[in-house]
Amino acid sequence: MSRDRRAIVVGAGSNGLVCAIHLARAGLDVTVLEHSPRPGGACSSVEATLPGFVHDHCAGFNPMTVASPAIGELNLEAEGLRWVHPEMIMAHPFEDGMAIALHHGLDATVASLDAAAPGAGRAWRQLIEQYLPHAQRLVEAVLGPLPPVGAAIVLAAALRRDALLLARRMAGSVEAFGLDVFDGAAGPTAWMAGSAQHSGLPPSTAGSGAFGFLLQLVAHSHGWPFPAGGQGRIADALLAIATREGVRVRCGAHVDRVLVRGGRVAGVVLRSGEEIAARDVVTTISARPLLALLPDDALPRRLMRRLRIWRYATAAFKIDYALRAPVPWTAPEGREAAVVHVAGGLPELAAAAEAGARGEVPERPALVVGQHTLQDGTRAPAGQHTLYCYAHVPARYACGDDDIAARIESQLERFAPGFSESILARAIRNPRQTEEENPSLVGGDLAGGSYELDQQLIFRPAPELCRHRTPLHGLYVTGASVHPGGAVHGMGGRSAARTLLADRRLRPWRA
Ligand SMILES: Cc1cc2nc3c(=O)[nH]c(=O)nc-3n(C[C@H](O)[C@H](O)[C@H](O)COP(=O)(O)OP(=O)(O)OC[C@H]3O[C@@H](n4cnc5c(N)ncnc54)[C@H](O)[C@@H]3O)c2cc1C
Repeated sequence: MSRDRRAIVVGAGSNGLVCAIHLARAGLDVTVLEHSPRPGGACSSVEATLPGFVHDHCAGFNPMTVASPAIGELNLEAEGLRWVHPEMIMAHPFEDGMAIALHHGLDATVASLDAAAPGAGRAWRQLIEQYLPHAQRLVEAVLGPLPPVGAAIVLAAALRRDALLLARRMAGSVEAFGLDVFDGAAGPTAWMAGSAQHSGLPPSTAGSGAFGFLLQLVAHSHGWPFPAGGQGRIADALLAIATREGVRVRCGAHVDRVLVRGGRVAGVVLRSGEEIAARDVVTTISARPLLALLPDDALPRRLMRRLRIWRYATAAFKIDYALRAPVPWTAPEGREAAVVHVAGGLPELAAAAEAGARGEVPERPALVVGQHTLQDGTRAPAGQHTLYCYAHVPARYACGDDDIAARIESQLERFAPGFSESILARAIRNPRQTEEENPSLVGGDLAGGSYELDQQLIFRPAPELCRHRTPLHGLYVTGASVHPGGAVHGMGGRSAARTLLADRRLRPWRA
């Protein structure tokens, strides 16, 4: 092994911090370089509207975080992190004032489904009872390094012929998955498709079935919790561990170039012109900005091209509200659920997603709404509330931000008449601002690249890169553009660190 123990991690998001902790625990001298003035990346919270109102900047809910072995083994709770676990996880209201709720408990979910569409509850119970015992293993198969041979064999042995059925349904669209399970019932299918919209994939797109099903299965197995006090508490806990391990985290340090000398990585150059030498560099930024850091001949031409043509999905147009009162949803479930999917029926949900994908701002955007303060009083002054809200829009659009905000607010008014009267303040974040703050979120895409099937698994972002090594010695890649993709799970960070340590013949830390 070389005696040069210096390693650089580009980006202090959840993957960067997890990666740095693993490298430091194996004895490397680690510096994390972060563009933004604060660590956390897409896992942070800020007082965006008024003093005392804490808003989650990007990620708002943490099903994959609590299911992730990479996060679990770090024991963030010992750093003071406290999870809030809502029992009523999500409500999906419809135009007629009814709603279907997803509870942590299966019985309550079944009752809600049956009230909306008789028989739908029984179908859901059958599906969930079959896969619930395998939920953790499924998550590990999806988030683990490729190929997930061990997990796949165990799952196949446990599920037998039903493993193939599940694989087919997950590879298909969430619309097909829902219509199949619920025997053609549109309401429950829309309820399931609402969860798939977190991925940015329209409900008729192949592969969206996996997102809708997994998120809702994990609701029953692990919940969709969030940290008391804001997402920033996750970053704080990771930062505390990293610092204790001797990791240096430098914020306001934008990496402009990866230095290549003698055919291998030699360090990085910051925007300020400062050169920082290191034997290894792990980048956590998404595919296109990564390309901009590399000399033209750093990677084989076909790989450089792959990064250049990497496709980003629609943008998240975010509005955070400070409210004087809770949202007056027509459906009682809306007044209790931590998450509300505002879209209505399946045709409307599909129309909103397809308009965004075509480059148009939807007339009636589908919304992911978060009501953290119903359960977490630490995020707002007593009796007042925050509201987390985003819609998928194209990265570029001709209308003004206020037009989009007006469409979002008229959607909220449709399902919660009188909502606007409770607004104390609002903070809009458009796709351009999102990218300025975090250059990895190109065009405001929350996923670091579309989740269509040709950008998944070994194609995320390319067969040669999906296991974090690159053909350029000393350069490793992870983050949302690399398998296993986005969400606050840190699995990519851990697995990139393990790859690097294997190349250095260093023993990785294991819990
Ligand atoms: C609106 C929105 C909602 C989301 N909702 C959820 C959710 O509810 N649950 C969930 O689990 N996930 C959610 N996600 C996704 C999740 O937040 C991300 O996938 C995850 O945080 C990515 O972690 P990361 O460490 O790979 O990247 P990031 O957190 O994006 O970190 C990358 C870091 O690199 C920095 N950087 C970029 N370029 C440079 C450079 N040249 N030099 C130095 N630093 C640089 C950035 O500033 C950033 O801090 C959401 C994302 C968004 C945007």
